[in-house]
Amino acid sequence: MSLIKCPSCGKQISDKAKACQYCSFSMHYDKEDLERLKVMKYRNYRDKMYRLKMWSYTAIALALFGIVPMVWSYVEAIGYGFNVNITNHWGVNFVVVGFFIYVILRVMMVITKRAYTKSRYRIAIKSASS
Ligand SMILES: [Zn+2]
Repeated sequence: MSLIKCPSCGKQISDKAKACQYCSFSMHYDKEDLERLKVMKYRNYRDKMYRLKMWSYTAIALALFGIVPMVWSYVEAIGYGFNVNITNHWGVNFVVVGFFIYVILRVMMVITKRAYTKSRYRIAIKSASS
């Protein structure tokens, strides 16, 4: 018994297994199954990236929700001749949280892209050898 990589999830499984124990992908696959798997992986990737992108826009909007009133207060205070410390404004919290979420989402996008590239490569190898 030796270990092989599941073309669907990439985990190590026995070459005697009928299906992958992790993702239940059948090991009696042909080229057509691999084609279908490729399309499915692409769709999942595209949908996930779309969701992450939408969330990152939300994070930017959150930051702007803090920045706009900050700038407004600043301009207003300067108009009155006050010297204001902008970092005391409540808007700073929105900017910090929005930026933090944005960075996390960007990292998640990089990880998602990397995982997709890996799976595409894995499927291409199996297609070439079967
Ligand atoms: Zn699997």
